[in-house]
Amino acid sequence: MSKQTCNPTTKYYHEKFPKQKQKAPGLQCEMNPVPDCGEKSYKGHQRLEGLKMLVTGGDSGIGRAAAIAYAKEGADVAINYHPDEQKDAEDVAKVIEAAGRKAVLIPGDLSDEAFCKKMVDEAHHKLGGLDNLTLVAGKQTAVADIMDLTTEQIRKTFEINVFSLFWVTKAALGYLKPGSTIITTSSVQAFQPGPTLLDYASTKSAIIAFTKALAKQLASKGIRANSVAPGPVWTPLQVCGGQLSDAIPEFGKETPLKRAGQPVELAGVYVHLASEESSYTTAETYGVTGGEHTN
Ligand code: NAD
Ligand code: MG
Repeated sequence: MSKQTCNPTTKYYHEKFPKQKQKAPGLQCEMNPVPDCGEKSYKGHQRLEGLKMLVTGGDSGIGRAAAIAYAKEGADVAINYHPDEQKDAEDVAKVIEAAGRKAVLIPGDLSDEAFCKKMVDEAHHKLGGLDNLTLVAGKQTAVADIMDLTTEQIRKTFEINVFSLFWVTKAALGYLKPGSTIITTSSVQAFQPGPTLLDYASTKSAIIAFTKALAKQLASKGIRANSVAPGPVWTPLQVCGGQLSDAIPEFGKETPLKRAGQPVELAGVYVHLASEESSYTTAETYGVTGGEHTN
């Protein structure tokens, strides 16, 4: 008999979500229910012992789950977040430190190229090295009609989701050594774009092309680059305008597993892609979608 069995359809919250709305980027400590980012549920196995990681969007949601898992796997972690998210970020620092690892908090706006460079330099300096970029930060704002989609929104979404990847990677390449890894965060929206997410879905396709091309460019340096493509996951992004308000109660119900994912369910894939276990994997996209699949 197996030691434990777990039904994926009921393992996490699978009721209708209460309607709720926050102003972007939002705080996950104010969500109902609060997402599970592995604070208690993720168990580490020393798979990243001694590594130094920089995680953008590390205060909440999927980035927070990656940051917490990395620390529990033995890595020191710098997290970037928007200055409005200080409270969530301080909670993450406590979890990282409770795992016996170093936490470095670097608030700042990724749509500012100069900040991206400063952030990488600070992470390298305060961590005493840099082995991984985990680029998770993103902006998603649903707009039902392209005629209402402003140039300001299109520009911001591209700056945060796509341009910052160029800026952060360029700043980091002088530090990354053979064996280092870069992980970007795309979306099932790159493969099955929804009608209210024209700008966002376009950025998520761009992230996949960026990651594949970067992986080929960096292969000879011994640096790998891969992308994670989540399906619907219960995070602040969704209640800060990522979905139209009426879609929140049924969020995730359209998937074959009939529920939204929790951020901790992505953590293992980030750990795998950052660890030596995946040494023959580069230019790849890993879907974690509740069955929505990415091809
Ligand atoms: P989240 O709100 O927890 O994370 C997004 C983070 O982006 C924020 O915490 C914030 O720190 C960061 N951010 C936004 N604008 C910023 C700026 N100008 N400067 C610095 N940081 C900024 O939500 P999440 O769902 O965990 O999102 C993480 C990633 O996952 C995003 O790239 C998102 O596109 C992707 N994703 C999410 C889902 C989902 O259903 N939640 C699905 C597919 C892909
Ligand atoms: Mg956040």
